[in-house]
Amino acid sequence: FRAMMIVDHDGKPKAEFRDLTQADLPDHDVLVEVAYSTVNFKDGLAISGKGRIARRLPMVAGIDLAGTVVESRSPDWAAGDKVIVNGWGLSETEWGGYSRFQRLKPQWLTRLPADFTMEQAMAVGTAGYTAALCVLALEDWGTIRPGEGEVLVTGAAGGVGSTAVALLSAGGYRVTAATGRPETHDYLAGLGASGFVDRAALAEKGGALQKERWAGAVDSVGSTTLANVLAQTAYGGAVAACGLAGGMDLPATVMPHILRSVALLGVDSVMAPQTRRDRAWDVLARRLDKAHLASIARTEPLSALPQLAQDIVAGRIRGRVVIDISA
Ligand code: NAP
Repeated sequence: FRAMMIVDHDGKPKAEFRDLTQADLPDHDVLVEVAYSTVNFKDGLAISGKGRIARRLPMVAGIDLAGTVVESRSPDWAAGDKVIVNGWGLSETEWGGYSRFQRLKPQWLTRLPADFTMEQAMAVGTAGYTAALCVLALEDWGTIRPGEGEVLVTGAAGGVGSTAVALLSAGGYRVTAATGRPETHDYLAGLGASGFVDRAALAEKGGALQKERWAGAVDSVGSTTLANVLAQTAYGGAVAACGLAGGMDLPATVMPHILRSVALLGVDSVMAPQTRRDRAWDVLARRLDKAHLASIARTEPLSALPQLAQDIVAGRIRGRVVIDISA
C-alpha cells in the first residue's frame, strides 16, 4: 500500500510516496485500516518542507486519521471498532495517517464520536477539534457571554478559523471574522459571521492599548495580529491562541493584561488529555451543523497531497480538505 513519507534526502527532509507492507509498520498494539485523513497547516509544513515537523526519518506524515481496527493486542479495542486519532505526535515522532494501514498505541485512539461519519470526523480534523478546544478555553474562562460583545476570529477562512466561526455562532456569540480574502465573506457569513475585519488592519504594529473592541477572540495567526488583538480586547476579556500562520513571534506588551485583566489562553491539541478531547468532540457534535461542515470541507485523493501542501502553506485553502486514503 502507498504512504506519503518524509525521507532523508542528502541530509534534508523530502516528501515522497513509498510502497509499504504491514511488516514495515511500528510494533504498536492496534492495527488500523485508515479510510480518511486530512490536510492541516502542520501537514502542509511537513510535506512542502517549509517547516521541520518530522523529528525522525523516515516518517509517515499525516497528523490525523480515521479508520477501522483490524486487530488489537489491547483489551480496550477490538476488530471492527471505528476510531480517530488527532495529534499525539503523529508525523512528528510517530508514524501518521497518510497510509492505508497504521499501527498505533491504544491510548491514542478516540472512538469515532457519535453523529460523525469517518469522513465528517476528518472534515473536522485537528483544525476543527482545535477550534473546539479554543471555544472551550474561552467558555471555561467564564467572562464572555453570548449576546454581550463581539468575538473575533483571525485566520477566519482557514481550517481552525472556519470551524471557530461556526461553533461560536451556533453558541449564540456575535462573531467578527478577520480575513485577508474578501471573496470568502459570503462563505463566512453563511457560517454565522456578522462582521468582517481586513487582516491587513491587524498586521500593522499598533499601540499597546487600543480601542476596546472584542469581548474575546480565537487567534490562529500569532505575531503582530495577536499583539493587536490583545490590545483591542475589552476589560476582562480573553483570547484563545493556537496558531502561528502569520509568525511565531509575539511583539506585545503586558499592558492589556495588567490594566484590563485580559487573559491570553494557550491552546495545544497534540497532547491534550483524553477528557479534554471528549469535551471538544462533544461541543462539535452539539454545535456543528452538518450542512455547515459540508460547506467547509471537500475531499481529495492521496495523490493530491503535494499540491495541497503548497496551497495550505500559501494560505490558498478555504476551510478543510479531507484525504480519501483509498482513492
Ligand atoms: P489554514 O487552513 O492554512 O488557515 C490559516 C489561515 O490563517 C489562512 O487561511 C489565512 O486566513 C490566515 N493566514 C495565513 N497566512 C497569514 C499571514 N501571513 N498573516 C495573517 N494571516 C494569515 O491552517 P489551519 O489548519 O487552520 O491552522 C491555523 C494555525 O493554527 C496554524 O498556525 C496551525 O499550525 C495552528 N494549529 C495549532 C494547533 C495547536 O494544537 N495549537 C492545532 C491546529 C492548528 P485568511 O485567508 O482568512 O486571511
